Order: sequence, then C-alpha cells, then structure tokens
Amino acid sequence: MTILRALSIRGKLLAILFVGVAMPMSTGLAWITLQEVRALRRELVTTNSLLAYVAGQYSAAELAFDNKEESEETLRALTRLDQVVFAALYDSQGQLFSSYRKPSLAPGDTIPGQIAPPLEPNVEDAADHIDIYQPVVYNDVRYGTIQLRVSTDSLQDRIKAYRWSVSLAALGLIAFVVGFAFALELTITRPLLSLAELARRITKREDYSVRATASRGDEIGTLSEAFNAMLSEIEKRQHEAREAARIQHLLASVSGALAESLDYPLTLSRVVRLLVQSFADFCVIDLVDEERRIHRVAAAHADPEKEGVLRELYECIKPTWDSPLPAAQVLRSGEPLLLPEVTDAVAQAHVLGAEHLRLIQRLGTRSVIAVPLVSHGKIFGALTLACAHPTRRYGPEDVNLAQELARRCAIALENARLYREAQEGIRIREEFLSVAAHELRTPLTALHLTTQRLQRLAPPVPGGGGEANRFTALIHAVEQQGKRLANLVGSLLDVARIDAGKLVLEPEEVDLVEVVRKVVDQFSDELLKAGCTVRLAAEHPLIGWWDSSRLEQVVTNLLSNALKYGAGKPIDVTVEAFNGAARLIVHDHGIGITEEDKERIFARFERAVSVRHYGGLGLGLYITRQIISAHGGTIRVSSQPAAGATFTVELPRGPREQAPSL
Ligand code: ADP
Repeated sequence: MTILRALSIRGKLLAILFVGVAMPMSTGLAWITLQEVRALRRELVTTNSLLAYVAGQYSAAELAFDNKEESEETLRALTRLDQVVFAALYDSQGQLFSSYRKPSLAPGDTIPGQIAPPLEPNVEDAADHIDIYQPVVYNDVRYGTIQLRVSTDSLQDRIKAYRWSVSLAALGLIAFVVGFAFALELTITRPLLSLAELARRITKREDYSVRATASRGDEIGTLSEAFNAMLSEIEKRQHEAREAARIQHLLASVSGALAESLDYPLTLSRVVRLLVQSFADFCVIDLVDEERRIHRVAAAHADPEKEGVLRELYECIKPTWDSPLPAAQVLRSGEPLLLPEVTDAVAQAHVLGAEHLRLIQRLGTRSVIAVPLVSHGKIFGALTLACAHPTRRYGPEDVNLAQELARRCAIALENARLYREAQEGIRIREEFLSVAAHELRTPLTALHLTTQRLQRLAPPVPGGGGEANRFTALIHAVEQQGKRLANLVGSLLDVARIDAGKLVLEPEEVDLVEVVRKVVDQFSDELLKAGCTVRLAAEHPLIGWWDSSRLEQVVTNLLSNALKYGAGKPIDVTVEAFNGAARLIVHDHGIGITEEDKERIFARFERAVSVRHYGGLGLGLYITRQIISAHGGTIRVSSQPAAGATFTVELPRGPREQAPSL
C-alpha cells in the first residue's frame, strides 16, 4: 500500500492496468489454451482408440487363425494415418504377434516384444506420444491386445501455435496497457504536473497574473478553472492588500510630514511632494482668507520637466472666488469634486481662459479631484490632485482617500495655526512682562531713593514729637508699599526669566539657618503687625551648595504666605539635616489648603483664595518650586482646610555637576 502511495500517477495507472486488465486477460488466455490443449488430446485419444477398436475387431480373426500377413496388412493400413507411429498386435499372453511401423520411425520408438495385457482399454502418456492399448475381443473371447502409438506432434504444433497467439495477444495487451497508460498520463498526469509546476512558479515569483490553460471539458478542466479562479481571487486580494498598504503608507508618510514641523508652508510643500510620488501627477493646495482671496500655497509635479509649466500656471493664473476652477468650486460648495475624464470640453469648463487651458493641456491633465480643507466646519482651503497618466483615471475610492488626506492636512494646518497663535500670545506676554517689569522698576527705584532722602531730610519738629513720628511713619508706609511693589515686579521678572530659560543660579557655600534667620529678621515688622511669632528650631548651622539670594527668595515666599494665610497665629520654622540633605519646614496654623488645590497652587498664576480677601499674583509658589527644582530639591505641602499648612523643602547639599539654570 505504501509502495502504491509512493508511486507516481503514471506508475499507479500502469499498476492498475496490469492488475486489472493484463493479468486477468493473460490468465484467461492461458486457461483457454490449456482447455484447448486438453480437448485436442481428448480428441486424439478418442479418435485413435476408435481406430484401435475397429482394427482390433478385424484382428481377432487374424489372431484366432494365426494369420500374420493379414494382420500386418491391417496394421500397415493403420500406420498410413499421419499420427500413428506404429501399430502392434499382441496375443492373449502379451507376446508380439505382428506389427507395422512407419519407415520414418525414430530409433527410440522400439516396439516391445512383450507387454502385460491390460484388462481394459488403456492410454499411456509420454512426452512425444500416446500409447493406446485396446483389448482384442470377439464373442467375449479375448484374443489379444492391439497397441497404437500415436505421435503428439500435431498436438505440440497446436500448442506452439496457441503459445504464439497467446504471447502475441499478451504483447498486444501490454502494448495497449502501456499506450493506454501513456495516453492517460498525457491527459491526466501531464496537466496535473503542469498545474503543479505553475503553482511552484507562482509561489516563487509571486506573480498571480498567470493562468492555467483550461480549455478541456473534463475534471482536469474543472480543476484548472478552479485553480484559475483561486489565482484570480489571490490576485484580487493581493491587489487590494497592496492598494491598502500603499494607502496606509501614503497616509503615514503624509501624517509624518505633517507632524514633523509646525512651519506650515514647509510642511505643505513636503506633503504635495509626497502626494505626487504615488497618488497624483501634480497637486496644488490653495488657502482662502477672510476676504475670500485664494492663495496658492503649495504645488508639485511628479515630472521635474513639467515643474516649470506648473510654476507658470501657479504664478500667472490667480484663481478668484467666483472662478470655475475646481479648487474655487470646492471652496464655494464645500463638497468634493471629481472630474474622472478631463476632455477638452470639461477642461474648457474649468479654466480661466485660453492661456490657462493651454497650460492645463501641457500638463497632460486627464483626471482631477478637488477636496475642501475643513476645520471646525469652516472651509479654509482646497487640495487639488490631477492625474496625467494615459490610462489611469480617478474614481470614488480616490475621492475618499483625497478626503482623508485633506482631513489630515486640515488638522495639521489648524494645529499649526493654533501653535502660531499660542506662540504669538506667549511672545506678546513675555514682551509685555519684561517691558512692564522694566518700566515699573525704574520709578520704584526712584521712589525708594526718594523715601530714603525724605527720611534723612525730615525736619525735627521742636516739642512736637507726635508730628515727627507721624511723618516718619508715613514715609515708612510709603517705603513698605514700594517694597511690595518691587517684590511683585521682581516676581513678574522671574517668571519672564524662567520662561525664557534665563534664570541662572549662582551656587556657593551657604548656611541655610543663617538665611532663614536673616529673612525672619527682615519680617520682624510684618510679623509684629500680623500678630505672629516665629518659632525657629535650628540648632546647628546647615551648610550647602546653594544660590543664597534664590534661597532667601524661597524662605521669603514661604514665610510671607504663612504670615498672609495664618495671620495672628504662630509660625514654626524648622531647619534640619535629613538623610544627607537639608530640610526646611514652614508650618503655620492658618486657613489651610484643600486636597484638590495642593498640587495646583504650585503652578503659574494659580491661587486657591479669592482676590477680595487675599492679594497676590499666584506666582510665589511657582517661582519657589522652580528655584528648588533647579537646586535638585523638592517641595511639598500637607494641609487640611482651616488647620494650617506645612510646606516641606528638601535640598541636596552637595554642588551639582553643572550650574543649573531655569
Ligand atoms: P499668592 O500667595 O500670591 O497667591 P502663591 O504662589 O504664593 O501666590 O500661592 C498660591 C496659592 O497657594 C495662594 O493663592 C493660596 O491660595 C495658597 N497658599 C500658599 N501658601 C499658603 C498657606 N501657607 N496657607 C494656605 N494657603 C496657601
């Protein structure tokens, strides 16, 4: 069975034909031949037995009367027959009485002188003859036995003839079987093998456009048709997959180009260049402004030689809102436009004049798609794609792809516009901040100098200590307000510096405890006025590598907040070494901070209190965190509303590798 499975179809066909046709037929022929030979022999025996019987009847008298001459004559008559080799007559004792042999008798054929007389007629077979013994009986008296030796040559000849015909029939059969097998091979195996070969070639070259010949009406034809149908399906799917991959690739590369830069003229020129690589022969992007003026912002042609024509078109033909150009139509309607076949008549209906038509024709325009660029429901531009290939035409699928591309372009353009606006806003704000800060600082410095001079020039009022004190107090108040103003301006300047990355730290060896003491001293008046006491827990100096003035700013911000939001209550300040770092804790018993405000208050301009109750810009904690981060440290707050707030600052003490900047 395994051997049969391993055989080729040709081998199987041959085996089947041999087993099913040749073998039974050969066996049949052999059997028929055998039967025929047997019948011939039977016939030979019967005929010659009859002859022997008849001759025996004649010979009974010759034996009875011992008439040898007559007997020999009878026997001679018998030997005239072709097949009879010799004839012999024996007496009742088996003694040879008379005989006659053919002259041509072979020397081996000797006539026995004595036989054992058989009781019944008897036949003995030898290789080349048959001996027939027939008792000679007359009136129930046994007189002797007659023997006829019959040659089987005729039988042998017939057997030979049969053998030949059987062999010829077998050969013919084999020839037929082999021929039939080859014919079957031609009609079954070869087409199957050629199908297999085709499948191999297809797999190797991945070329699914080839087809099997399927002109036959049989099962092989059906198989070839099924094979071809499968190939068509694979080809179709492969085409679809390639198309999908091409579209994906195009969309991905366009998206990549759009995301690469916020400089939209550059981006759009990259996008049109990408589009003419795989989707269009030339491509134009138009934008429309508030006054409905159309601006051609990007154009590209796949053929570098035609770039010049496109430029000419781009520069000479200025589309207007009312013009019949596809882009203008799309801008007006907001609907995509497909011109599948740009005939002369179609081209004429969409141009601005003879020159325009000439340029369009020089570009070889065959098919056109125009789609709107829409953002937030507003049409702000159009993407026009044209194909100049002699056989390629745009269809609805291409319109869908163009719309997707336009959608992505619109998003990117909108993002670029928002980014530009944001950048412009930031620029204006920064400019305002630095100008305002500078403008404010100049009069503040003058105010500060003036109040100091006033303090020095204050005239002594004789006996009127009260007047003098009031004068000094007023000047002091002016000085304090001036200081506050100066702090606010300083904060604004710091924010501007942080935004511009221009706030540079100048680290040196600083004792944090000393910094804290100095700031607390500076706050003595305010603390007194607010009814707050500061309980400072700092036993030893705590030296670190910090920018002392920025550190002062940190402590000032935290202390002024504790004073502002915890007026009338004591403030606990702790300075301690912690895990090799320095830790500053400012704990007040004021209004506290809600959970959701805890992180927000560190952001720029963020506040958790109303301006009516507490003044401020919402910049102190922002600047504080920026300074601490620049030192490599952290700041956090823990608080409960109405239960005070604890600000914890942790600063590494060692020098940082690079001078940090904000
Ligand atoms: P400003 O104090 O000028 O508003 P800050 O940046 O210093 O700005 O603080 C931001 C906000 O954090 C404050 O408006 C206030 O709501 C909250 N805050 C700061 N410190 C405290 C404090 N010690 N207790 C309660 N709230 C505070």
